[in-house]
Amino acid sequence: MHFTTLASGSSGNAILVGENNRHLLVDCGISGKSLLHNLSELNIADSEIEGIVVTHEHVDHIRGVGIIARKLKIPIYATKGLWEVMGPCLGKLAEDQRIKVRDSFSCAGLEVLLYPTSHDSRESYGLKILRPKQKEKRHMAVGIATDSGIITDDMHRHLKGCDALVVEANYDEERLKYGPYPAYLKRRISGKYGHLENKQLAAGLLEWVAENTQRVVLAHLSAENNTPEIALTTVKRILGDMNISKKFPDLEIQVAPRYTPHELMRLME
Ligand SMILES: [Zn+2]
Ligand SMILES: [Zn+2]
Repeated sequence: MHFTTLASGSSGNAILVGENNRHLLVDCGISGKSLLHNLSELNIADSEIEGIVVTHEHVDHIRGVGIIARKLKIPIYATKGLWEVMGPCLGKLAEDQRIKVRDSFSCAGLEVLLYPTSHDSRESYGLKILRPKQKEKRHMAVGIATDSGIITDDMHRHLKGCDALVVEANYDEERLKYGPYPAYLKRRISGKYGHLENKQLAAGLLEWVAENTQRVVLAHLSAENNTPEIALTTVKRILGDMNISKKFPDLEIQVAPRYTPHELMRLME
């Protein structure tokens, strides 16, 4: 099983999860052109993408969804509520490209579970993407959570013990507090339906990281209220203080690049 981020941050988000030459996209918040370019950088053929799942209707998650679905002739998976708000923004689609899902579906040989996050969109979801157990291969999971103001019980339930995590470290408390944003925006970001602060996320990771967790990718960083260095140092310091780094010395923690694809991360069986 493998995964990567193709773009990450308020300028646009897209994640790829798959196995061998079958892949699923999670959101496409960059232009269709940028997405195809980023896939080619990873040597992934367009024809290998089997679908797109949408986490919520904010433009940094859906900008290129309609274009990519038309171009690659693939289905879009989203809940009924999300279709109601984003459907009109996606342009012309065939009926069989509009797949309404509830809390799970299968695509590209993977099982996808949706769980609610706490965010100011019509609906908002995190995902747990599972590779079912195969003959000698164990069951594996990539957990995804961006765009949530708080760590919810659903997040704990789904992210605990995943083999890899792509999780939001949106802002640094001090930088947001003393930064240039107007007060209402500061309140929105730090509120219950906003985004996760670095230390908040680190507290979540303390619960989620387990022996089998190989990679943690910090995603959806704010360009104004965070830096890759601050996010990484803060998270690593908190995990270090709680002896997680000592307990799991092979755990890799990285930051998702904003505009370019991260390396294709293959999980060890
Ligand atoms: Zn959002
Ligand atoms: Zn977002």
